Amino acid sequence: MSTAELSPALPTSDSSSTDPRRPLTGRRSDGARHIVHIGDVPFGADPFVVIAGPCAVESAEMISRAASSVAELGANVLRGGAFKPRTSPYSFQGLGMPGISMMHQAARAQNLPFVTEILSEDVVDELAEQVDAFQIGARNMQNFALLEAVGRTGRPVVLKRNFGATLTEWLLAAEHVARAGSSNIVLCERGIRTFGDETRFTMDLAGAMWAQEQTRLPVIIDPSHAIGIPHLLARAAAAALAAGLDGIMVEVHPDPEQARCDADQALTVPAFKELMAHLERFAIVRPLLKP
Ligand code: PEP
Ligand code: MN
Repeated sequence: MSTAELSPALPTSDSSSTDPRRPLTGRRSDGARHIVHIGDVPFGADPFVVIAGPCAVESAEMISRAASSVAELGANVLRGGAFKPRTSPYSFQGLGMPGISMMHQAARAQNLPFVTEILSEDVVDELAEQVDAFQIGARNMQNFALLEAVGRTGRPVVLKRNFGATLTEWLLAAEHVARAGSSNIVLCERGIRTFGDETRFTMDLAGAMWAQEQTRLPVIIDPSHAIGIPHLLARAAAAALAAGLDGIMVEVHPDPEQARCDADQALTVPAFKELMAHLERFAIVRPLLKP
């Protein structure tokens, strides 16, 4: 087989990208941003978007409490995992499909769209019917079969950066999704491994800014996983806003001490309220910072 047969030709339908390696997602030569809608919430345009909710769906009652709390405080999108990628096979793995139904109900009751992680290609079609957006987690950023399966559904995708991936690898992963059929991709920086272990990972704010400049896609930050220390999250969220990024994703739990996943990093509802108030202060001056 010749090399030409092995390497599919790059699509030529969109020649507006400034980067020939990423014709579908690269920065456009006219600078236009691609606005991604999750439900009716636009990412990539003002205002700054807040995705909030627990790490995992633990019960119908818990996810509906979480949904109503974050909705009341101004979150735009609900998050929560039913399929959890856990480091240990003995940790809580999520409720699976029943968890998706609980989340669907909780989100609809608050009139919020929701995003949830997908771990396996087997459930792509089933999930595509229910979810407003797929989350591809850090650990699956280069699971190309999954990226393509999710891309083929055309549903929006929140694509997290792997903690060991370069920015270029992350952006090329997004190109895989777009090439398969969905250019509605929100890039999410969630912390990378560095020599420092005092914070859970290292929040790469500069990398997120660089990614935003190099693509037409919206870029958000997940300070919960990046930092892992609840009382630092409000300032980190404000930093993302001040940096001109498009939003944040944060973990909020009605009772963090009882959380079955990522308990140490979850915000309480009052702490999430403070985070929103802190963002509000910066949002007031943000338009003045824009050219
Ligand atoms: C999560 O969002 O709960 C999660 C597992 O995130 P990440 O893939 O960034 O570790
Ligand atoms: Mn988590």
